[in-house]
Amino acid sequence: MSILPIYVYDHAILKKKAVKIEHIDDSILQFIEDMKQTMHEAEGIGLAANQVGSPLALTVIDISPVEGYEQVKPLVMINPEITYYSDEETDYEEGCLSLPHLRELVLRPEAIQVQFYNEQIQPQTIEADGLLARVMQHEIDHLNGIYFTDRLSQLKRTLLQSKLRRISKGETTADYTIVLPDGSTIQSENDQ
Ligand code: ZN
Repeated sequence: MSILPIYVYDHAILKKKAVKIEHIDDSILQFIEDMKQTMHEAEGIGLAANQVGSPLALTVIDISPVEGYEQVKPLVMINPEITYYSDEETDYEEGCLSLPHLRELVLRPEAIQVQFYNEQIQPQTIEADGLLARVMQHEIDHLNGIYFTDRLSQLKRTLLQSKLRRISKGETTADYTIVLPDGSTIQSENDQ
């Protein structure tokens, strides 16, 4: 297994719509294991494939490190599609490994239904609410080229401009290795 560098704002791959996976081979299974390890090492609770430079419609989620969610099993979602959104919406403070040190309240539907394939290529339909529904929506947004900051008000986004610019210029450090929009890499502080 290997830990992959994480692509940050505003690398072009993070704005691209993901490509559906047609068949799963050993290299994709290996990549899924690398994604899980990368997410855990960076202390994230979700990771989309484009955040590690791949165009595939694939995300890994593990919210079990969060207090109160220890019993929630990790998930691999291949070609996920949200098929239902609740009318009820809630605010929650989100962060993102591609937007280091940036946290904002984001309004999203409280509950969803999502369809996807798991690693065993079995079709799954899950109804989720609370934190799990939130992380699923955040990760599926990534697969559609959407950052959580795109869901903020115009005013809030304007206020965040300088922070976003600093991330894209590599002036914001992270505890993990990052890839900047120009393709250059900055090693994690932990590795230096
Ligand atoms: Zn994210």
